[in-house]
Order: sequence, then C-alpha cells, then structure tokens
Amino acid sequence: MITLGCSKNTVDSEKLMAQLNAHAVQVQHNAEQSDARTVIINTCGFINDAKQESVDTILEYINAKEQGLIDNLYVMGCLSERYAKELKTEMPEVDQFFGVNNIEDIVKALGYDYKSNLVGERLLSTPSHYAYLKIAEGCNRKCSFCAIPLIRGKYESFAVDDLLTEAKLLAKHGVKELLLIAQDTSYYGMDIQKSSLLTTLLEKLSEINEIEWIRLHYAYPAGFPKDVIDVIASNPKMCKYLDIPVQHISDNMLKIMRRGLDKKKTIELIENFRSKIPGLSIRTTLLVGHPGETEADFEELYNFVCDTKFDRLGIFTYSHEEDTYAARHYKDSINPGVKQERANIIMKAQQEISLLKNRQRIAHTMKVVIDNIDDAAAYGRTQYDSPEVDNEVIINNPENIKVGSFYDVKIIEAGEFDLEGELVKP
Ligand code: SF4
Repeated sequence: MITLGCSKNTVDSEKLMAQLNAHAVQVQHNAEQSDARTVIINTCGFINDAKQESVDTILEYINAKEQGLIDNLYVMGCLSERYAKELKTEMPEVDQFFGVNNIEDIVKALGYDYKSNLVGERLLSTPSHYAYLKIAEGCNRKCSFCAIPLIRGKYESFAVDDLLTEAKLLAKHGVKELLLIAQDTSYYGMDIQKSSLLTTLLEKLSEINEIEWIRLHYAYPAGFPKDVIDVIASNPKMCKYLDIPVQHISDNMLKIMRRGLDKKKTIELIENFRSKIPGLSIRTTLLVGHPGETEADFEELYNFVCDTKFDRLGIFTYSHEEDTYAARHYKDSINPGVKQERANIIMKAQQEISLLKNRQRIAHTMKVVIDNIDDAAAYGRTQYDSPEVDNEVIINNPENIKVGSFYDVKIIEAGEFDLEGELVKP
C-alpha cells in the first residue's frame, strides 16, 4: 500500500489495510523494499507537483509490472477520482482505477468480501501512539484556487458515534494522541444540523481515558465556531495548538480567493484565540502568486507575517488547477520565478520568527512525547508541535526512554525548527 498526499489519504489507506488484514492478507505500507506481488497506490491530485509525483509513482510500478516484479497494480485516490478517463487511456497496464471513498470496491476487486463490521478499524501507518482522526469528507467552501471540492465532493460530517467508536478502538491499540483532520474541521456538523458539532465531538473524545492529547487541524477562519476556543482553553487534553490556514491577508486577495472573511475579521479572530488561550501555538498556511496578487498585496502579507508571528507556517505557490474558479476566470498571470521568490521571502521571515520563539523556550521544562529513538538521540514533540510538520525536541544520549511515552524535558538549546532538551529526572 503506497500512500501519497495528505493525512486524509493516510486514513483512507489505513481503513483499506484493516480490511485486507482482516482477510489475513499481509500488508506493507510505503515499504522501500517489498516482495509484494500486488501494489495499491493511493494518489494525490491537489496541485501540479503532487499530481506529477502520483504519475511518476504509477509509472514506476508499471515498469515493475512489465519486469514481472509485481502481478497486479491498482490506483485509487484523488488523481484517479479526477482523471479516471484519461488515466485509463494512458495507462492500460494498471489493472483498475478507483476514486475516493470506494474502499469496498477495491476490497472486492482484490477478491475479498468487504467486512462492514470493521467500522472504525484501522491498520495504523503512523507510530502507534498517535493517529489521525478524519472527521468528515469533502468541502462546501468555494476557495478560488482549490480543486478539492471537485474531487472529494460536498461536505459530509462523519457521525459522532462512529468517530467515538473509531477513537476508542485506536485508544485500545495504544493511541494517546488524536489529530483531528478533514478538508475543513470548522464546518463539522453544519451539514447535519446547521450548527457546529465540533465542541460536542472534542468533549466526547476527551472522555476517552487513554487519550492524552487532542489536536485540531485544518480549521477554516470564516465561521470558526467560537465555543471551540473555550474547549481548547479549558480542556486539559486539548493541545494548545491550532492549525488554521488563512491563505492571505489583503482584502483584495481574500476577496479574489473567495475566502469569505476580510483582513479585519481575520486579525480579530487570531487576537481572540491568543487572548483566550495564552501560549497557543498557531500554525497557518499561506498561498502566494495567485492571479491578481499585486506587489502591494504581497507586501501586506509580508508585514502581516512579521506582525502576527505565527508559531508554525507553511507556504504554497499558486498552481493553476483546471476547472477551479480561478482557472476558469483568470490567467496564471504571475511569473513562476516571482511566485517562488515571494514564498522564499516569507519563509525567510518565518525562520527568524521561529528561531526567536524557540529561543524563548530555553530553560523551560515541557511535557514531551517520544516519537522515535535512534542510536544517537530520541526525537519527541511538545503539545505545540504536530508530527511530521512542526518542531522536534531532540534528546541526546537518552537512557531508559520509550517511544510513545511522555517525559518532562528541560529545553537547553533552540534552532529555527528544532529544540534540544534533557530529561528531567523524576
Ligand atoms: S477549505 Fe478551501 S482550500 Fe480547503 S479544501 Fe475547502 S475549498 Fe479547498
């Protein structure tokens, strides 16, 4: 099983692997070396770079099939959901293409019965102490640059009870940290009852004894359910962490991008988070080079980044995705070099901000979960850091330390994107 793209794809792959595992099929995930005769690629179709990576991976395994190294090759996920017809024509060597959300068809195509009683069961691909919990599918937003609603369809919240069943199963298997994900977690419940169910879900998840940390990702600024701020502030299991992509800040660009919120409201929301949740670690994502972005818009974004001092920041350059609102209404007018230069300028500023903030952690003792240990060191995270995307805490020459356990760690050194610490003896 090969998973490309985002953590939502990871969850889909884990659900499929659990089905196969239940039929005593030996499953490997993203194995460098594998003697498996059947390969399933879960693709990403979000932006050009990701699409290219998916196509290259499929071609790599078509090659392996032609060399007789594998017998069967199946492709699923966003790329094949979006381009099924073209892929079928161009890649006849692939046994079958599947879209998103049809795990049942894949299981049947592989010759097994779909086990509907395995609701919530996952074969984890992450270290066993943390897991992504996908709370909904699809998206009802209208962001100009985004193809996801075209691929994943309308927003569909998963039932609170099903998510609790899934979370309890994960907790039973050793998961202590849940990372809540969706295309848009802010909208959770709105499709079911026209009011948010996110607070209800967070509070119920926090009642699961084994779960120690709950982390909220992919929040959307417009219509962010305010009561969630109080849950993050008051619930000891809620990480003081929030991932909320704002994409841009100038009113001109927020309008062109159809983000549904202006500069003033965006800044008020961030200030509200920070006043209600002292020490909150805010991760955001920005997009530069969208058609219509002027030098003045970019300067406004740069100043916003310098003033706001986000704790964690990711940046993308605009990708002209066919059938999106932007592609249907604008030319891809900004030169790729200018796009990249704008991204580099923002990331340079963020590096300095991140170093500054990390230095403020020195001499502080923090609760750290250990994700990984090698001969030289142990690698962990604080509640302010999400796996795979944020800072790590490095503990050199660790003794008697276990992956998945929590330790008090005194921070002794800080870099731009990592901290160094030493264990505090109990
Ligand atoms: S919120 Fe906007 S950017 Fe995110 S998936 Fe939905 S349409 Fe795309």
